[in-house]
Amino acid sequence: MRSAADNPGVGALPMTRAEMVARGWSECDVILITGDAYVDHPAFGVALIGRWLEKLGYRVGLLAQPNPENPADFLTLGPPRLCWGITAGNVDSELARLTVMRKRRRDDPYSAGGRAGARPRNASIVYTGCARRACKGVPVVLGGIEASLRRLPYYDYWTDRVRRSLLFDAKADILIHGMAERALAEFLQYLRDGRDWCGLPGTASLVKDGREFPDAVPLPAYEEIADPHPAGLRRFMEMAQLVERYHLTPNGTRALVQRCGNRQMALFPPAAPLSSAELDTLYNLPFTRRPHPRYAGRRIPAWDMIKHSLTTHRGCYGACRFCALRVHQGARISSRSHANIIAEAHRLVRQPGFDGTITDLGGPSANMYASECARDFDCRRPAGACVHPGVCRNLRVNHRALTALLRDVRAVPGVRHAFIASGIRCDLALLPGGTEWLRDLLRHGHIGGRLKIAPEHMLDGVLRHMGKPPVAVYRRFVELFKTLTRTAGARVSLREYFISGHPGCTTADMEELARCLKEAGLQPEQVQDYYPAPLTISAAMFYTGLDPRTMQPLYVARSDREKARQRSLLLGRRTGRSKNAIK
Ligand code: SF4
Repeated sequence: MRSAADNPGVGALPMTRAEMVARGWSECDVILITGDAYVDHPAFGVALIGRWLEKLGYRVGLLAQPNPENPADFLTLGPPRLCWGITAGNVDSELARLTVMRKRRRDDPYSAGGRAGARPRNASIVYTGCARRACKGVPVVLGGIEASLRRLPYYDYWTDRVRRSLLFDAKADILIHGMAERALAEFLQYLRDGRDWCGLPGTASLVKDGREFPDAVPLPAYEEIADPHPAGLRRFMEMAQLVERYHLTPNGTRALVQRCGNRQMALFPPAAPLSSAELDTLYNLPFTRRPHPRYAGRRIPAWDMIKHSLTTHRGCYGACRFCALRVHQGARISSRSHANIIAEAHRLVRQPGFDGTITDLGGPSANMYASECARDFDCRRPAGACVHPGVCRNLRVNHRALTALLRDVRAVPGVRHAFIASGIRCDLALLPGGTEWLRDLLRHGHIGGRLKIAPEHMLDGVLRHMGKPPVAVYRRFVELFKTLTRTAGARVSLREYFISGHPGCTTADMEELARCLKEAGLQPEQVQDYYPAPLTISAAMFYTGLDPRTMQPLYVARSDREKARQRSLLLGRRTGRSKNAIK
């Protein structure tokens, strides 16, 4: 291990022996394996982790999309001194391969040339097996969104059954859930010190029989929740509720323990999110912001999309039951400082190929930047309570900070446009300060023609199942936006996202939605087929057919035919551009 001061700070992380040797290394401390092509940009999780560990003084190598059929690929850099770190990449590997309607995708935007098939199915499991076979006895750490969402047993949409935690199926030594910087750094420290890492926040481990964790919440055993009969379905939903209550809240401070066969696993509370200062340090690291030179001449579509964007924060207060972001990134917002984002804008302007347009400043919801809880999260309310059923009075939404940030970004020499392309929360925009913020967006052209919002549905019954605000909130927002747009004389419109096939949404509900949209003169352009993302409460509703509030049966559109019908009810009426465009 070398010291952070020796960090060369230039060039991408090594992917070949020659690149290792050029850095003067005979071995790597940690080798990361990813299902994405390697782009050294902070929008790519593996780049964030690799640079963070490098900053801490570790020698980090990287294998991107190694071929599982070729064992030599996994020994390209030799064995790692400390451990392997494995991720399926920025996306779930099966979702990268198939559409929700189980049709094969023809491309993969996270691969060079957009080529499909460079990432194996169940990449976390496959890569772990390959790494184990390549070097016996080297610990394997599993992370990334695929593993994070599968930290506990989950309903697997693709095989229509309940599967064990990835920790069992991949046979990793430890699973890191959520944003991994802090947990991985602590794990490596424990590994180096020869200490028992079981119990670290942000991780899950298999534990020996008889080992006890004070204050841990016992979950129903895997065998109980995997039983597809009514009693098993109820147990599955009970497990999902316990997870929401004790693990996914802003104060998810309890460990969960669960038996699976003759073994036991423990899931420890999320690691504390990075502070603003730590995020600043992370984003100051010497990312090249480009794909690794090995991809020269081949486009990586996902990079094309994000290369001129800036991340302002991570985490989400939202209560949307179908969304995996809160489950993965956490229910608390961590924001970068104003100065740090402006400094990155200055660096971006100097990047070759920058054309004057910052394509997005945002995070999971753009207008959650710099928001915080006035009680410093000292509360026992359930997951999603910050914004659902109404916005909590302790939530301090900070549109002013975002306005000031945009003002200073557009003052950076070389920036001609700066857009908000991430979606925004309508309910938060209606709070004090939101109108001024929207006015500012319009006045300074920060909306690139369309502002993304996600009402998802227009029937309160369905919205309740989704954990979304009532439709009145959306309607109030549309009215406000129209008024402001008219006053500003701006030619912009709203881009609404809807979901079809969410549990609790019947065909009649979709017909009613289509009728509401027609009445409102709206033509939906974005309709997403519902996908049961593991560990979300909506996925538990989809699998069990139960309403978590009442434990009573709930309608679920299960067959491809029902789902296609729901979707076609909205898109079948497509005639062209949104009539919501404000002239
Ligand atoms: S007090 Fe309100 S804003 Fe703070 S964590 Fe609890 S629900 Fe969220």
